[in-house]
This record gives sequence, C-alpha cells and structure tokens, in this order.
Amino acid sequence: GRAALLARVDELVRRVPDYPKAGVLFRDITPLLADGPAFAGVVDAIAADAPDGVDLVAGMEARGFLLAAPVATALGAGVLPVRKAGKLPGPTAVEHYELEYGHASVEIHPFTVPEGARVLVIDDVLATGGTAAATVALLRRCGADVVGLSFLVELLGLDGRAKLGDLPVDALVQVP
Ligand code: AMP
Repeated sequence: GRAALLARVDELVRRVPDYPKAGVLFRDITPLLADGPAFAGVVDAIAADAPDGVDLVAGMEARGFLLAAPVATALGAGVLPVRKAGKLPGPTAVEHYELEYGHASVEIHPFTVPEGARVLVIDDVLATGGTAAATVALLRRCGADVVGLSFLVELLGLDGRAKLGDLPVDALVQVP
C-alpha cells in the first residue's frame, strides 16, 4: 500500500550533508531509482495522483527526466524535456530566473507544445520552487495549460509551493 511505499521512499532517498555546498542537505534519489519495485511504485503513485487528461509530462533536467518518461507512458501522454541553457537545437523558448547566487534558465522546444495542451510538470525535489515556477511560466507562454506539478520530495522549510500559486502540487514525501 501507499504507507509502505512512502516508508520505502524515505529509506531509499539518501541524505547527503553539505552537498553540493556547505549547509545544503542533498536528497539523493539514485538508490530509489536502482530499486526496481520501489521505482515502479513511485511511478505508479505519481501517475495515480495525476490530474485527468494529461497530454504531456514535462520533466526537469536531469533527474526529472527519469520520472517524467515512465509517468508519461503510464498516462498515455507524451514527454517534454525541460532543459538547462544551451542544450536544445533551436528554435527554443527560454525563461530566465534568479537563484540564490546568480541566475539560470530553462528551455523547451515550443513547437512540441500544442495550444492548450494539458501539461503535468515533474521533478525529484521541490526546494525553493524557482525552477518549477520558471518552468510553469515558460510552458504557459508557449500556450500550455499547466494542470499540476508532482515531486518525489518536498522540502517544506523552503516553501517552494508559495511560488506556484493555486496550482495543484503533489509530493509523495514531505520533509521539514
Ligand atoms: P529549486 O530550488 O526548487 O529551484 O530547485 C532547483 C533544482 O535543484 C531542482 O531540480 C531540485 O531537484 C534540485 N534541488 C534543490 N535542492 C535540493 C536538495 N536539497 N536535494 C536534492 N535536489 C535538490
């Protein structure tokens, strides 16, 4: 059941102190990805929680790709890679956003987003929400109807959800 799956996710997501820099407690999902039943379980759970009628599942580079692709096939939807700067051949649509130190951008191929497409956005971890909020803005600018976001782990202390307005945000595991 769901409770056993969530306990398993909690066991299999490794906590790495001070990575990639001092003060950050990094949540490493590679042990979860490497466990066949647990990985299948999280994909099924994310798909089961998804809004109805999803046309496209957008995965954020890079760990979001690993979740978005199997969730998309489970839903009978397409998959849309949301890439970091400079990885896609043009034409691209780009959204720049601010990080704690510096800035970043996300890019997609706008011609892969039909007008009004119902898009579910997926990543492994919701932290500050900056990347997710930029992705939502980018998708909307390209004509998408963003119907929700789904994360494996939500870091509640950073209140990333506040950046996502009224959109439905699903998180399998919430941690302080
Ligand atoms: P955000 O601050 O929400 O924009 O997070 C930016 C990206 O970094 C997302 O793709 C997250 O998956 C990743 N990330 C941020 N903080 C962590 C963390 N503590 N552990 C693992 N991944 C993280």
